[in-house]
Amino acid sequence: MKNFKDLGLNVDILRGLAELNYEEAMPIQEKAIPFILENKQDLIGLAQTGTGKTAAFSLPIIEKIIPNRDLQALILCPTRELCLQISKEISAFSKYKTGMKIATIYGGARIDTQMRELSSGVNIVVGTPGRVGDMIRRKKMNLNKIDFLVLDEADEMLDLGFKEELDNILVETPKEKQTLLFSATMSSVVRKIANKYMNKPEEISVGKTNVGADNVSHQYYLVKPRNKFEALRRIVDSEPDVYGILFCRTRNETQEIANKLKESNYSSEALHGDISQNMRTQIMERFRQRKIQLLVATDVAARGIDVNDLTHVINYNLPDASESYVHRSGRTGRANKDGLSISIITPYEERKIRTLEKRLGKKFELKKIPTGKEICNKQILNLMERVKNVEVNEKEIESFVTTAEEALGDLSKKEIISKFLAVEFNHFLNQYKEANDLEILSGGSKIPKERMSDDNLIDVKINVGKSDKFDVKTLFRLINTSKELKGAEIGKIKIEDSYTIFGLEKNRVKDVDKAFRKVSFAGKFIKTETENIKSEGGGNRRANEGRPSSRRSGDRRARNKYKGGKRKK
Ligand code: AMP
Repeated sequence: MKNFKDLGLNVDILRGLAELNYEEAMPIQEKAIPFILENKQDLIGLAQTGTGKTAAFSLPIIEKIIPNRDLQALILCPTRELCLQISKEISAFSKYKTGMKIATIYGGARIDTQMRELSSGVNIVVGTPGRVGDMIRRKKMNLNKIDFLVLDEADEMLDLGFKEELDNILVETPKEKQTLLFSATMSSVVRKIANKYMNKPEEISVGKTNVGADNVSHQYYLVKPRNKFEALRRIVDSEPDVYGILFCRTRNETQEIANKLKESNYSSEALHGDISQNMRTQIMERFRQRKIQLLVATDVAARGIDVNDLTHVINYNLPDASESYVHRSGRTGRANKDGLSISIITPYEERKIRTLEKRLGKKFELKKIPTGKEICNKQILNLMERVKNVEVNEKEIESFVTTAEEALGDLSKKEIISKFLAVEFNHFLNQYKEANDLEILSGGSKIPKERMSDDNLIDVKINVGKSDKFDVKTLFRLINTSKELKGAEIGKIKIEDSYTIFGLEKNRVKDVDKAFRKVSFAGKFIKTETENIKSEGGGNRRANEGRPSSRRSGDRRARNKYKGGKRKK
């Protein structure tokens, strides 16, 4: 790796970099900095987040800016957090370049303050497309003399629906400028933007694009839906130093999980679209200061969060798009640190893991959910490590040691250790004393073999099978979408031509009738049997017998009306 002096940067900037302890250039910097310094040609940089993109484009821009003149560079990025991060870095890089002024322009903050800043004359604007577009329409920003236009995280800007605003902004810029586009992925939309707005761009890429960072490992845990939160708790408890983002799908889920974590005394906060900007700033500040260990966030809310030393990314469920998983896991393993991306999934989601493995070219490790005993052991070892490494101010603590010695005088060393451990660990020991093993499923198969002849399971027969195109996936969907059976333990499944038999945990069998009562599939109402089931029917019908005739298969009118899915009341 080269040092920054070799890349052609001048002494003012090198001084700023030295203060930040930037010693060697990262690969994207090594390629992009000399190119931008020496060329006016447009540039596409393909690199993952956390690979040093900000310095790669901003250092040569700072070098070329002539202070105290017009606006010369516009840097557009998707989120307020990223804007603030970029302008903070640019300020630090340009600390010794006198006279250069930067404005940060983003929504959710007072526009009049930002307008004043702009009218005071700035050389670089870092902004989100929405607010920048607004400023242009209000004639507070004039782009006709800019030399540089940077589109940072272009893929995310497009994902967030900024395409139209970008179009509006780009037409305001002069033809002769140099456009620098940075993106983690070269999606077709990014390619379209490049074709439309860039002039014969040079393309550089660092490492593999569209894949996760090399220093991130991927693990997953298989659980029943109803055990997800308990599994999360155990995973977090077994990683005492966890500092990361927990991804949820919806705002409601994000809030619910953050609340549950807080109720269980974990240091966590929710970050989603319903959180006000003010709150968001406070939460982010506390997260940066590590006063919050787990930030529970939606994909959108987490965009642009630039905290570099995250130990973990935890996926409470997997996102639909592989791309989102790449972005999520890219939040850890930054600046060459190791990172871990953990997914807590139900058997239904397991096929997504295989898709991700192909997409990332990496194996995902199936992990066992830690048992109570393993968690307590880990916590104790962690505490012992902290005890061994803690700095002791001998002078200050001496008198208290004497007091403690006198108070504990009668106890042996072993007794003292046991008692201290009890003080610190009784809550863990109590919590996990009777904890069940949550390990229910092993990788690859949907149904654990060891459960097939379980005494706790009862066979349930339903009147749909292969000839109705009924399959395991549909069975799981029906079970998990029913209020009564959601999360129930399922045993062996046998799908025959005209019927299906599956094992269901005994204590949920009473709910079977209710769960399937209003459900139809392939044009017929699902009928259930739970006693004396023999293959090829002949069973002793029970569950459906109590239904009013209009709800049974004889009700042709109803049957014609509802083809598949739940019947309306
Ligand atoms: P970025 O991809 O720009 O978000 O950078 C990721 C992190 O790496 C940021 O915290 C940067 O401050 C840090 N970083 C970037 N370049 C270097 C470098 N050459 N040496 C040390 N740290 C760097």
